[in-house]
Amino acid sequence: MSSEITLQDSFAARARIAQSIRVTPTVSSDALSKATGGDIRLKLEQGQITGSFKLRGASNAVLSLSDAQRAKGVVGVSTGNHGRGLAYAAKQAGVRCIICMSELVPQNKVDGIKAQGAEVRIVGRSQDDAQVEVDMLVADGMVMLPPFDHRDIIAGQSTVALEMLEQSPDLETVLVPLSGGGLISGVGMVMKAVNPQVRVIGISMERGAAMYESQKAGKPVLVEELSTLADSLGGGVGLDNQHTFAMTRAFVDDLILVTETEIAAAIRHAYWQERQIIEGSGSVGIAALLAGKIKDPGRCVALISGQNIDMQLHHRIISGEDVDVTAEG
Ligand SMILES: *Cc1c(COP(=O)(O)O)cnc(C)c1O
Repeated sequence: MSSEITLQDSFAARARIAQSIRVTPTVSSDALSKATGGDIRLKLEQGQITGSFKLRGASNAVLSLSDAQRAKGVVGVSTGNHGRGLAYAAKQAGVRCIICMSELVPQNKVDGIKAQGAEVRIVGRSQDDAQVEVDMLVADGMVMLPPFDHRDIIAGQSTVALEMLEQSPDLETVLVPLSGGGLISGVGMVMKAVNPQVRVIGISMERGAAMYESQKAGKPVLVEELSTLADSLGGGVGLDNQHTFAMTRAFVDDLILVTETEIAAAIRHAYWQERQIIEGSGSVGIAALLAGKIKDPGRCVALISGQNIDMQLHHRIISGEDVDVTAEG
C-alpha cells in the first residue's frame, strides 16, 4: 500500500465536500429487525445527489485538483454511478468533464451521463477502445479519475462512515456493498480507527465477485464479468491495484456473497416493507440479512448505496415477476 489513507483524510474530505453533498438519514427497520432478531438500521445513501454515494468520492477528487489540473479538466470511463457522480461534481466545480464510452453502451446510460452535464465521447466498440481515447486526453493534460482505486475517491467515500457513526454511535456491525472496494476501504478504515470492535462485512453478488475471488487468491485476479441484478458491482479490481485490495484485507472482517434470487427478494422487501426504491447493488445488505447470512447482526447498519435501477425492471421485480437477467448474458 502506498502512503496510508487515514481518519484525518476522511475529516478533510468531509470539510471539502460539505457544500456539495447531502447528509443522508439512517432509519431503523422494524421488518428486518423482526426477521433477524437484530436491531437493523438502513443508511439511506441512495438518496444522495445523483442517486449513489459515488458523488462523495468524485466531489472530493474534483475539489482536490490543483489550479492547473482544474483548468484542463477531468476524464472518466464509467457509464454508471461513478460517471454520473463525476459529471455532476465537475459541473458544480466549473471543471470540464469528458466521459469516454464505447458505442455498445445503451442510450439510457449515455443520456444519464449527459443529463449531469458531461461531454460524452463515443469511441469504438469496447472498453479498451474507450481507454485509448482516455490515454490521449491524459497525455494532453486532463486528469483521469478512476471509480475506486484512488486516494481522494476512497477518502471521499469514507465520509459516509462518519455520518453512520454519528447517527448510530452504538453500532456493532456494518454491511457494505462491495465491488472495486473504494466504498468499503473508506468505511472500514473509519470504523476500525474509531472502534476496532465494529464488524465490517462486505457483500457482493455470486456472479462475478472480483474482490472476493481476489482476497481468496491473495492477490488481484481477473474474473469473468456476468450479467447480474447488482450491475453496479460488476467489473474487476484492477491487476495493479494500489489501495483497495490491501485496505479490504486490512479492514474487512468477512466477505459474503448473495444470489440473484436473494437480490430480487431484497429489492422487493425494500419497496413493500421499507417504502424505498433501490437498485440491486444497493440491496445486497438487505439480501444477506433476509437470507440469514449475517450471524448475530446485533446493532447493525446496512448501507444502501444506490437507487439507479431501470424503473421498468424495478416494476417487474416488485410485481413479483421472476426476472432473470442472467439469461441475457
Ligand atoms: C460503485 C457502487 C458500489 C461498489 O462500490 P466500490 O467502491 O466499487 O466497492 C456499490 N453500490 C453502488 C450503488 C455503486 O454504484
